[in-house]
Amino acid sequence: MTYISPEKLADDAKNVLEELNARIEPLKPKDRMAIPAQEMPSQDPAVRRGNMEEVALGYTPEQAKLEAERCLQCKNAPCIAGCPVAIDIPGFIQAIADGDNLKAIDIIKESSLLPAVCGRVCPQESQCQAPCTVGKALKSVGQAVNIGRLERFVADWEREQGLIETPTVKPETGKKVGIIGTGPAGLTVAADVRREGHAVTLFEAFHKPGGVMIYGIPEFRLPKAIVQKEIDTLTAMGCELKTNFVIGRTRKIIDLLEQDGFDALFIGTGAGLPRFMNIEGENLVGVYSANEYLTRSNLMRAYDKERSATPIFESEKVAVLGGGNVAMDAARTAVRLGAKEVHLIYRRTEVEMPARVEEVAHAKEEGVIFHLLENPKRILSDEKGWVSGIECLRYELGAPDDSGRRRPVAIEGSEFEIDLDTVIVAIGNDSNPLIRQTTPGLETNKWGNIIADKTGKTSLDRIFAGGDIVLGAATVILAMGEGRIAAASINKMLVED
Ligand SMILES: Cc1cc2nc3c(=O)[nH]c(=O)nc-3n(C[C@H](O)[C@H](O)[C@H](O)COP(=O)(O)OP(=O)(O)OC[C@H]3O[C@@H](n4cnc5c(N)ncnc54)[C@H](O)[C@@H]3O)c2cc1C
Repeated sequence: MTYISPEKLADDAKNVLEELNARIEPLKPKDRMAIPAQEMPSQDPAVRRGNMEEVALGYTPEQAKLEAERCLQCKNAPCIAGCPVAIDIPGFIQAIADGDNLKAIDIIKESSLLPAVCGRVCPQESQCQAPCTVGKALKSVGQAVNIGRLERFVADWEREQGLIETPTVKPETGKKVGIIGTGPAGLTVAADVRREGHAVTLFEAFHKPGGVMIYGIPEFRLPKAIVQKEIDTLTAMGCELKTNFVIGRTRKIIDLLEQDGFDALFIGTGAGLPRFMNIEGENLVGVYSANEYLTRSNLMRAYDKERSATPIFESEKVAVLGGGNVAMDAARTAVRLGAKEVHLIYRRTEVEMPARVEEVAHAKEEGVIFHLLENPKRILSDEKGWVSGIECLRYELGAPDDSGRRRPVAIEGSEFEIDLDTVIVAIGNDSNPLIRQTTPGLETNKWGNIIADKTGKTSLDRIFAGGDIVLGAATVILAMGEGRIAAASINKMLVED
């Protein structure tokens, strides 16, 4: 994709909009489909390689209006069925087309509590935008109405106009709800439960709340200030926040219920336990899990070398193992931390990559070198026990596996080596076993995820769970959706008490 400057995109949109405004006849579907899909203005790849600032800059008002005019307002609204929290997508897009941004954001907020976050990180191309009629008619999901970008536009508009209000809290009920984990699942439960007048305490193991949105997803994709704004709203509503508080260590689940007077608990502890490949050399100095690497950079601000006390190794040649969003984030962070070469090694092809298409495109633009159909066999060491390289095998695709994706098969004798000083393993995460190990009777499945029914209730009385700790590593919107369901169940239970 060739880079187009934000100024050019803005000018083009203005010109097209002027032409549309000059029309007397109302727009027909074919006119709407002829409107060019609006590209997201972004920082120049050559510049952004050297900074942590957000890459995507957001639509101008003219671009948003034009993009909204592309929507056909389908009666059957396939986009709504594609949205895990069923936002009234045609409704909010029509409001943007009508110039009523306030109405648009109100419509979104009926279903989603974190639109500025979801507008940035949701995998729209495989959710709401996948079944879009415009994309289908134009034979490319890339040509679908850019629902996520429009969601982001109105959420940013609301924040920039200073219109975000603290939601009204009903009179105190005297009931206490404890929320363990402050990712999107926990934050959502906090908001929905507090609104009903119950006292809410959030417990967070790290020194900062926000879960993966703070420690995992980098600033250049999701500015921390946006997540912090959500947390400020919760504290303004009267939620109490206890950081550096590890449930299972500082206090156990049972203590919260039996000694500390909590009437209900929600466990939203995510999937923060990194998986490794179990290959030779994984214990060498210079091998990181993506979680550690990203946490050092994001949460501990290691990238801010002048001011941060947390060091991070200054790598020259890095390999990132994996093909998901986490791998893209790690690779793009390594670029920004100054690595001269960043290799992304993935054993299937780009088609099977779980990462968002946009993230893959951005990583390529920023110079990440993609090694597809290749996989490490062992990590090589120098005489001091530091990473010196990696030995890989080439692969080909065989028959489909259980997931329906074609199984990668190693090509015998295809070994080759790459010189490196750093390896980042980004092949997935499991749930942390601490709560499971310290809470007798809490049922989990074979992967260690907590089992919850469709109301979010676990095997234990008064204990609910949701997000990645139940689903396994998933998405922000699914975590938020689960949080809403569990909050409704908690509120119902407390009223009936
Ligand atoms: C690098 C990265 C990039 C991602 N990119 C995307 C993306 O682009 N789009 C998308 O939709 N999803 C993405 N995801 C996935 C998404 O972030 C998660 O699905 C989502 O954050 C899960 O939310 P959660 O609330 O269940 O848990 P989390 O966000 O994981 O939050 C759990 C919180 O619980 C805390 N905690 C854990 N144990 C305890 C304990 N015992 N006591 C107290 N606190 C505890 C943790 O410190 C953490 O703050 C990404 C994930 C990663 C790691």
